[in-house]
Amino acid sequence: MSDSSGAMIEAIGLSKFYGPFAATQNISFSVPRGQVAAFLGPNGAGKSTTMKLLTGFMAPSEGVAKIGGFDVSTDRIKAAEILGYLPENGPLYLEMTPSEILKFLGAARGMSGGHLTERLEFVATKCSLKGVWGKPIAKLSKGYRQRVGMAQALLHDPQILILDEPTSGLDPNQTHDVRELILSLAKSKTILLSTHILQEVRAVCSRVILINDGRLVLDGTVDDLEQGTKGMEARFRELTGASR
Ligand code: ADP
Repeated sequence: MSDSSGAMIEAIGLSKFYGPFAATQNISFSVPRGQVAAFLGPNGAGKSTTMKLLTGFMAPSEGVAKIGGFDVSTDRIKAAEILGYLPENGPLYLEMTPSEILKFLGAARGMSGGHLTERLEFVATKCSLKGVWGKPIAKLSKGYRQRVGMAQALLHDPQILILDEPTSGLDPNQTHDVRELILSLAKSKTILLSTHILQEVRAVCSRVILINDGRLVLDGTVDDLEQGTKGMEARFRELTGASR
């Protein structure tokens, strides 16, 4: 499934232009099987755009995105089978309940019977959704909506997860729970998660991919971002200081 290099998530020269404006420009990186990589950058750097390109939700102006070795523009269905995506502002159907939307999405992904029931039970437990299982999403807090988004990303037990700001808008308890969930998933999955919270990186990631103004500015380990005694925040500011 993956190519010989074991790359599970690959950006190969990805650019996205809005008219003359480059939201991302020539972004290349790859995440090997089993790694948890942080995708960092200030607001507006191009993180969500890159994630939409990687998941096939948006077509690139230039470049190729591969998931598990499958080109997401030509092999979209195969890529989608092994990919879970938490979008920036989950396209959640507000009038539906978590139970309804997850059953609907499970059926849309070809799941049924005992297998679907088992997976619904798993995500309801893992994402702490049982207390709101029958409540319309419109009535749920931001934290619970985010958990429904995580549940839909995990439902089909994908090997690869692309999570756009999984802890954004959560209170400290919810943030802790989501980080614990990601750590438990990290044992068996390949994960790319975007964040602008630097403590999050230390807590859950071994690899850092940093972009600024739509361009890659660092690809390395968490220690590379800390660079000796400077500290992560100082290095982040240094690399992204000239932000648009
Ligand atoms: P991030 O996720 O890092 O905050 P985004 O990927 O959302 O950044 O946005 C990158 C840049 O592209 C921003 O300057 C944003 O304003 C711009 N952008 C995003 N979507 C569009 C769009 N549909 N049309 C024009 N510009 C866009």
